[in-house]
Amino acid sequence: MSIIKCHECNGDVSDSAKTCPHCGVKIKETNTIKVIIISILFVLLVSLIVFLVYKSVYGKPEELSKSAYQYGISALDISDKYLDGYYDDDTAREMLYNVYYKLESLYEEDDNTYTLGLNAEVLGVITYILAGTESDVIDARNNLADSLNRKNR
Ligand SMILES: [Zn+2]
Repeated sequence: MSIIKCHECNGDVSDSAKTCPHCGVKIKETNTIKVIIISILFVLLVSLIVFLVYKSVYGKPEELSKSAYQYGISALDISDKYLDGYYDDDTAREMLYNVYYKLESLYEEDDNTYTLGLNAEVLGVITYILAGTESDVIDARNNLADSLNRKNR
């Protein structure tokens, strides 16, 4: 139980009181409605913030098609597993080439330059696995992550 202000006379009233002891106006109802409205607004605000944060960290960039994005995400996943030591050079390159060819045929259909850009970034990771240092691979992996709105490592 807490003390609130009466909306009519501004006097102190218990929030569990049905009427104001000073002016007799009904309070309980307005107080409940106010709480409901504030709760709804609060929930909407929190949802909006969560949505915006999620979108900025993990959302699919608008310019990419859903298929291109999914191929990109699997290339990123393969790159991460390679960097974490789960795949050797040959396995990682073979799997990445697989994604590369899928992106290439997707580009033939959608003619979207962002699909082509993603394709080039996958090829970058493949190239550095073949002939670069680990930090080259990480840089190429991070370029890929940037175009997918994913976090760098
Ligand atoms: Zn009052």
